[in-house]
Amino acid sequence: MTSLRGRLARLLTPKIEAAGLEIGTSALKVVELRPGNPPSLSALAMRPMPPGLIQDDEIVDAEGLAEEIKVLFDEAKISKRFAVTAVSNRQAITRNINVPKMTLQELDEAIKWEAERYIPFPIDEVVLDYFVLDNPDDVEDGEQLEVVIAAARLDLITQQIDYLKLAGLEPVVVDIKPFALLRSLTMSLSSEHLGKTTLSGTGIDNEIGVVLEIAASNTTITLVRGDRVLMNRNIGVSGDDFTAAIQRSFGLDFDSAEEVKIDYGTATIPTEDEEELLNFDAKREQFSPSRVYEALRPILVDLTTEIRRSLEFFRVQAGEANINRMVIAGGGAKLRGLAEAIGDALGFRVELSDPWLTVTADTNRFDTEYLKKVAPEFAVPLGLALRGVTGID
Ligand code: ATP
Ligand code: MG
Repeated sequence: MTSLRGRLARLLTPKIEAAGLEIGTSALKVVELRPGNPPSLSALAMRPMPPGLIQDDEIVDAEGLAEEIKVLFDEAKISKRFAVTAVSNRQAITRNINVPKMTLQELDEAIKWEAERYIPFPIDEVVLDYFVLDNPDDVEDGEQLEVVIAAARLDLITQQIDYLKLAGLEPVVVDIKPFALLRSLTMSLSSEHLGKTTLSGTGIDNEIGVVLEIAASNTTITLVRGDRVLMNRNIGVSGDDFTAAIQRSFGLDFDSAEEVKIDYGTATIPTEDEEELLNFDAKREQFSPSRVYEALRPILVDLTTEIRRSLEFFRVQAGEANINRMVIAGGGAKLRGLAEAIGDALGFRVELSDPWLTVTADTNRFDTEYLKKVAPEFAVPLGLALRGVTGID
């Protein structure tokens, strides 16, 4: 969809390298990479989102946010001014659609009309992007092409661009968070990494992988086969819901409840050992791991029920589906024992993802323990940074 002039301009100018910036509801995060195969980490930083800048996923204080972004880039010592950023899955629509076989040039003209009926906004008020999954040369005449469409409201994209400009940045791509996530989790999802042998032709390549991101206010589930996105949906239970449950049970403010969740929270019934190990502060005895677990349990049940529903929904649509591996990301995935609890509920193995597998990091410059600790919440900004060095189209 890039204009011919745009394409020519890109050929004549050096390739842009951009940092990946995620404006999350609980934190701002930036990652900068140096191009290479694989790319290498050159900088990262994270700052909690100050209260009052974002409400319900919408930015309410543009100047305050711009200031925070500037400080974030300074902290990370990033001098690049180009940035790849993203809107959340709730602010965008992605779908796989089938269109009659046509040439890519014809599709470029027709996609707007083909996509229109799947988008609940007037087509002229959205930014539409698409990716063709089939090679038209491999598709018989009369058959259909599968295309992923992504649409976001033009006003939200324009807003996002304005905030970045206010912070002195030049936005080059506005992506969608689940797509960024997939880019940084390809290694975590690969069969080889999960200890299985990948032998083409044995059917293992046909397996469906699931990526679940549990962030502060958004949870998304994405089903993929190879590099093909099969389904992408929002789930109505996210990290902050766990905090809110602790708030209600113990009558705490949000920040104190957040602390209790991180210190004592578990997703599985605490064992006696855990009970002792986590009960490190006698003054806070009321927050015994088992009491905190009781507060979290209804939310855990909601989460696993919703995941199961999404998988059922997919199975009904797709017929036979061999789903047996899942990786989880997002800060909410760090709740103790969560991968295990979801795995038990679904009956297959679930693992915490490691987005850093897609890049190299100089251990003299970056603390390995720190990277490991923040891996789940850096999956999205890392995916954005990957787009910033491996091709902007
Ligand atoms: P969003 O993408 O939804 O706008 P975000 O990018 O700011 O939000 P993340 O940084 O991925 O969100 O995750 C923040 C969430 O992770 C919060 O709900 C926080 O409570 C939760 N979280 C962080 N650390 C832990 C932990 N150790 N245990 C449990 N939950 C945690
Ligand atoms: Mg996020």
